[in-house]
Amino acid sequence: MEYDLVIIGGGPAGLTAGLYGARGGLKTLMVEMGMPGGQAANTDIIENYPGFPDGISGPELMQKFMEQAMRFDLEIAMGLVKEVDLKSDPKRVITDEGQYLAKTIIIASGARPRKLGVPGEEKFTGAGVSYCAVCDGAFFRNKKVVVVGGGDSALEEGIFLTKYASEVLIMHRREEFRAANVYQNRARENPKISFRLNSVIEEIVGQNKVEKIRYKNVQTGEISEEAVDGVFIFIGTEPNTEFLGGQVTMDERGYIITNDVMGCSLPGVFAAGDVRQKTLRQVSTAVGDGAVAAMSAERYLIESEQRG
Ligand code: NAP
Repeated sequence: MEYDLVIIGGGPAGLTAGLYGARGGLKTLMVEMGMPGGQAANTDIIENYPGFPDGISGPELMQKFMEQAMRFDLEIAMGLVKEVDLKSDPKRVITDEGQYLAKTIIIASGARPRKLGVPGEEKFTGAGVSYCAVCDGAFFRNKKVVVVGGGDSALEEGIFLTKYASEVLIMHRREEFRAANVYQNRARENPKISFRLNSVIEEIVGQNKVEKIRYKNVQTGEISEEAVDGVFIFIGTEPNTEFLGGQVTMDERGYIITNDVMGCSLPGVFAAGDVRQKTLRQVSTAVGDGAVAAMSAERYLIESEQRG
């Protein structure tokens, strides 16, 4: 079976591309490795997506995205994309579940949490170390957790964790936060939150679960220990682009470089959302990318047909 359009990834960008593609009459398939919704589905509350003046929970918003795309007969296949051939005609997408052929492809595979890379991190993942406050926060009711990072995610998720935890320590490697002022102010006003600046975790320590962290003050070099029950790591993201095998042009961090109509370095291949090199990674910008990418795929198909 050959599709007009195969979309890799089912986050906000992929679901929007799916909505536009299917609604535009393209035979469209979206391939997703887990539950659609991407990282947005792991966000407690999204306050800056227009149309929801009181905010909306990430899972609920993503459910609505999916319902809307399915209304226009977007096909969805589960599967982890292992390999692609973007130069063949038709193009091929190979997953652990099967192979799909496509005239055009939109890469919307998003990004994943970056790892700290310290001893104990891997060992205690799922036993006190987490990258998702919405998923794991409730395990830390009346407990003390440390949140690592200084961006929007660290502060926003740190504030969210105060719903459950008795104490949230935000540890950042610098003096200044990268996060928007609105989150910085809210965190400072929250009595459950305290800060440990200019500090980096050296080791996460415990027997069967996290019991403490060993950390360093980067200005003085002093090493200290702090007893904690959980370590939440929000130090940015890395793009999910390994399966591309370098077939499209990426920047030095692996984000895909596109033009202003989401075109990649190969004809008929487009990218949308967090996987793309861009300055603002939000649901609202992913939606715009997804819409533009789908329209570009449609235009490419029309032009290919005209060329014969
Ligand atoms: P980010 O903005 O890249 O921030 C990552 C933070 O982690 C930075 O403070 C960085 O420190 C720190 N960091 C990086 N590597 C580290 C390491 N090895 N050890 C210790 N600290 C490290 O990532 P993010 O907060 O996940 O946000 C990602 C994107 O999503 C951003 O564009 C953000 O604006 C967006 N976002 C938006 C919202 C919202 O608008 N509601 C919510 C969440 C995320 P330095 O500052 O020293 O580099």
